[in-house]
Amino acid sequence: MLRLLLLIPTTTYRTEDFVAAAAKLDVELVVASERPNVLEAALPDSLLTLDFGDPGKAARTVAEFARRHPVDAVVPVDDRTTMVGAAIAERLGLRSSPVDAVSTTRNKHRMREAFARAGVRSPGFTLLDVSDDPEAAAGRVAYPCVLKPTILAGSRGVIRADDAHSFVTAFQRISAILRAPDVAGLGEGREEVLVEDFIPGREVALEGLLVGEELHVLALFDKPDPLDGPYFEETIYVTPSRLPSEVQLAIFSETRWAARALGLTEGPVHAELRVNDRGPWVVEIAARTIGGLCSRTLRFGVGVSLEELVIRHALGIELDSLERERQPAGVMMIPIPRGGVLRAVRGRETALAVSGIEDVTISAHVGQELVPLPEGSRYLGFLLARAESPEAVEQSLREAHRRLDFDVDPSGSAPPAGVAPSPKSQDSPESIKEPCA
Ligand code: ADP
Repeated sequence: MLRLLLLIPTTTYRTEDFVAAAAKLDVELVVASERPNVLEAALPDSLLTLDFGDPGKAARTVAEFARRHPVDAVVPVDDRTTMVGAAIAERLGLRSSPVDAVSTTRNKHRMREAFARAGVRSPGFTLLDVSDDPEAAAGRVAYPCVLKPTILAGSRGVIRADDAHSFVTAFQRISAILRAPDVAGLGEGREEVLVEDFIPGREVALEGLLVGEELHVLALFDKPDPLDGPYFEETIYVTPSRLPSEVQLAIFSETRWAARALGLTEGPVHAELRVNDRGPWVVEIAARTIGGLCSRTLRFGVGVSLEELVIRHALGIELDSLERERQPAGVMMIPIPRGGVLRAVRGRETALAVSGIEDVTISAHVGQELVPLPEGSRYLGFLLARAESPEAVEQSLREAHRRLDFDVDPSGSAPPAGVAPSPKSQDSPESIKEPCA
């Protein structure tokens, strides 16, 4: 029986779907997580504790384990585990993109440099340090621009500036976020602020699978809500895309080029692009599947999940079909309406009753402190819909969202001046999960 190692952080939505896919494939499953599991002593062959912050050490631990229990594939389930996954794969000779390539996807500045070298259409950029003088920097950049930390995810700390005043404010906000307790432990890149040209246009997300360096496009999602800032909150994703086929082809080829520029060779990729009259612009590529519960919009061949495809590819099991089921589908990440303490959630049943709505998941819990973007990066939950057209999917998601009512008490949410509220220090661990992006 083949043995699969899944790398699962304690705080991800992705566990259930990956574990279900592994169970369906009848493989020997080993789950590695960063905190010791109470059952580890009883199940030493199935549970491992790894330090996801130290890929080299994690790879040595797995190599030791693999001497007794040979491992045939390693699958990192989200952003925080991609580096560890690549290091383990390199050490054991398993299928994965190279460590260097995966590491470049984890730093927005290095990714921009790789794109610029290869001529991938991507925004112009300048790297600043948090110790730089923002007033001086504000005089040197072109507007509008986007400021962002290089090492965070989920749009956390990504802020548009239209003039010198908003540039300085954004810079200070990002500096405060980079001092937050949960960021302090992230290592290299904590001092960096990237400034990019603002790229106008519509945004799309591409889900792909690299097999022997070849990019197979699994799905293209439109993001019908404009993402013009100043903060970039994700809301609706709908597939298939309604863009003309020649624009879609240009998106595929720019993404293929971008993956090659980074040196990515094997496994899932999730790319975000903006499209305007100059063509598609690559915002970023991650070496993982789409986040949150968003993969539930996708099914391939006869009821095969995205997670099953990824596991099959990692194990070298035949991929019967990479064709997405035809029915249009979509997801909405439910945005935080305002900062404060969540007092009540109403309307879940009426939202579920909307035609086309398949699921309403509220992951925030009553009593939880909600931190909106740009300091936070979380969402209240997900709505999932399927319908006969992308337009109908979008409508169902909007109607279901209208029926939900979140009672947020704004008192008690204000952080002391200059201190970025850290979602990690305020939320319960199970609520600190990733969005689709
Ligand atoms: P993260 O990895 O934290 O999600 P991104 O760099 O992907 O950060 O940025 C998040 C979102 O911010 C993007 O999906 C896009 O909507 C917007 N954005 C980021 N950079 C730019 C840019 N240079 N021009 C226009 N929009 C941008």
